[in-house]
Amino acid sequence: MTQREIFLQHVAQTSEAPLCFEVSKAEGVYLFDQSGKKHIDLIGGISVCNIGHGNEKVKDAIKTQVDHYLHVMVYGEVIQSPQVQYAKALAEHLPPELQCVYFTNSGTEATEGAMKLAKRVTQRSKIISFKNSYHGSTQGALSVMGSEYWQQAYRPLLPDVYQFNYNDQEVLHAIDTHTACVILEPVQSEAGVIIPDKKWVQAIRKKCDEMGVFLIFDEIQTAFGRTGSLFRFSKLSITPDILLLGKALGGGMPMGAFISNKEVMDTLMFNPVLGHITTFGGHPVCCAAGLAAFNVLLDEKLIPQVKKKEDLFRKLLLHPAILSLNSCGLLMALHFESYETNKKIIDTCLRNGLFTDWFLFASNALRIAPPLTISEREIEEACGILLRSIDEITGQQ
Ligand code: PMP
Repeated sequence: MTQREIFLQHVAQTSEAPLCFEVSKAEGVYLFDQSGKKHIDLIGGISVCNIGHGNEKVKDAIKTQVDHYLHVMVYGEVIQSPQVQYAKALAEHLPPELQCVYFTNSGTEATEGAMKLAKRVTQRSKIISFKNSYHGSTQGALSVMGSEYWQQAYRPLLPDVYQFNYNDQEVLHAIDTHTACVILEPVQSEAGVIIPDKKWVQAIRKKCDEMGVFLIFDEIQTAFGRTGSLFRFSKLSITPDILLLGKALGGGMPMGAFISNKEVMDTLMFNPVLGHITTFGGHPVCCAAGLAAFNVLLDEKLIPQVKKKEDLFRKLLLHPAILSLNSCGLLMALHFESYETNKKIIDTCLRNGLFTDWFLFASNALRIAPPLTISEREIEEACGILLRSIDEITGQQ
């Protein structure tokens, strides 16, 4: 059996048309297939590989930690230097309200922990989320996911969840003294990069304050420079009560986090003790990798370059078949008329040496979220392949 056949037979599949790209190596902004052909990675592991693939400092940090210790004890009992140092580094870049970090294994677990925390502290159960939002695939996170299509097969889910249109004033009337939390993406990524009105988010913050409601920001996809600032919430001039991180947090290793203030977080210690438990959360190798990646992101001043790179993509990506280009930093969605057209373009890109895919709630949109390290020359190369691939497909229609 070929690797491809074993993959399709023995590795659980979640779609009928997996990309089936057989990767042999990843370096910088390039993915190499088995024949050694290189492809520009236009999606960076879905907003994970913000500092590019195979960074030497990250690899060294992993190797050093591997020589010291791997897993030693379940979360929260043992002082592990990589975890402590990473929590400190994050806290130094966050406001006073967000100084206590709970490390998880994934983004969806961060969502679970945050919702539990909000329910625990407010002693309320009502949760508000938004249509076309994505917060993870476990059952709590699925309950606040903004799409009946993805939820229907798994009901019953959490009760007392109410969904509203993003950017719509109606939600303000629903935030009341029964509400535990509002969970919000400061840019809706999987909806095809939808940017909220700043005043709308500020009004939600105000209403949450008035009603004693937790405001949870899911920055799993938007943080670590992706949208042009370290954290997107700083651009909205407000601070959430709980911040969710994931994806780029681990520098290519699996990790998530929910972050709040110490007083709130301390409620997980009592009644019941061990209010949120994880065996592997904050794994020392993941924390070492994440911290090294975080330092590279800051030391190499990658974030201030994001706007210029976004502008270059916007300047180059002009084509009659492109209906719109939504972007917030290097989180971009190229909208075409249909999923069918988009899928053909994606497949053609792959054949032409460009790796990309579509969005969960915008299947007609092509994803552009490359490593932030992408150079101007590489952007030109990527856009050249993209435009040629669009021509190949739309020329056929
Ligand atoms: N929230 C957002 C905004 C995400 O983009 C994702 C992952 N696509 C998640 C939560 C869930 O993260 P994970 O896949 O690590 O569970």
